[in-house]
Amino acid sequence: MTNYRPTWAEVSLEALKQNVKAFKDYISQDCQLMGVVKADAYGHGLIPCATSMIDSGANRLGVAIIEEAIELRKAGINVPILIFGYTPREAVQEAVNHDLTLTVFTDEIMEEVIRAAEEKEKSVNIHIKVDSGMHRIGLKKGEDVLQLLEKNGSPYVHVEGIFTHFSDADNEDPDYTERQFHHFLSVVEEVENVHGKIPITHCCNSAATITFPSMHMDMVRVGISLYGLYPGEHMREWISLQQVMSLKTKPIMIKMVYPGEPISYGRSYEPERPIEVATVPIGYGDGLPRALSNKGHVVINEQKCPIVGKVCMDQTMIDVSSVEESNRDAVYTFFGEPGEGNISLKEVADQLQTIHYEITCQIGQRVPRKNI
Ligand SMILES: *Cc1c(COP(=O)(O)O)cnc(C)c1O
Repeated sequence: MTNYRPTWAEVSLEALKQNVKAFKDYISQDCQLMGVVKADAYGHGLIPCATSMIDSGANRLGVAIIEEAIELRKAGINVPILIFGYTPREAVQEAVNHDLTLTVFTDEIMEEVIRAAEEKEKSVNIHIKVDSGMHRIGLKKGEDVLQLLEKNGSPYVHVEGIFTHFSDADNEDPDYTERQFHHFLSVVEEVENVHGKIPITHCCNSAATITFPSMHMDMVRVGISLYGLYPGEHMREWISLQQVMSLKTKPIMIKMVYPGEPISYGRSYEPERPIEVATVPIGYGDGLPRALSNKGHVVINEQKCPIVGKVCMDQTMIDVSSVEESNRDAVYTFFGEPGEGNISLKEVADQLQTIHYEITCQIGQRVPRKNI
């Protein structure tokens, strides 16, 4: 579809590739890098990001749900893809057909995987999920895992991996993550003593990959930091990354607004002196958070200008009085690479008391991703 509106999310695949290389250098040679591309690559665009990650050295991909994995296969991507979450019974056959790797943590899924693989006489890899302290999905104990594995007499079902997920790896205090790691190690040991060696053990997300090199094991699963974002500020000194996404727009009308003339819905802003107001064609219908009303800023030629009034569904107003007249129709950047004078995603997230993950994921499908 042609996009006529001058609003876009710039996605620097160059920055993404640099970030992949930074992680490849960071981990040891016998540790695999899984690029996590769930939720449309955290809003950055699934297929271009997945392809760039593989081109620059990612060994595998991780997604949350089978729909995402099938989209990758349909685009011709043939590296191993692990589905982290729950796969409903009725979807298991499709997963087997598409050579997807399934996460198993219940008897129900295990039985269905065996049935589907046997029916097609097709090999399938599974990874067992251990709950080491997040209390979301997974089996808590080694004996639970062994009981599950006992069900598998099928030559088609291979236990390729076992993994866990950290809930607090961005905390500067390592205590809880260390406890989770040791719990996971003890489960792996108990399982391998009976079952034999499992080829791929893994536990690190971005935060743990950056701050706990001793926990990398056979593979790391890096999501947010491949997009150039740090789960915690203290991680900046460990590895150097570039922010991949910038949100940009251009004004469609600029006019003077005077005292006594309130701006936008609810009249929440009224100028105290005559100001120059630019209207930009982007709003909360595009995922620009409405909570930025009278709070957020854009950067125009390195100059910061405030959002005035409420963010509407499709339009937003900016006070551009401080910008020289000749620059007012330049590109307006809501967030971008801070090294280039832009507001970082971290800054926007802090302002909204959320995390940058949520902001990039929320940028809607109406905003075209422009790969640069
Ligand atoms: C999302 C996710 C990751 C990646 O987490 P980041 O913090 O984005 O690096 C890794 N593993 C699992 C199981 C996940 O769900």
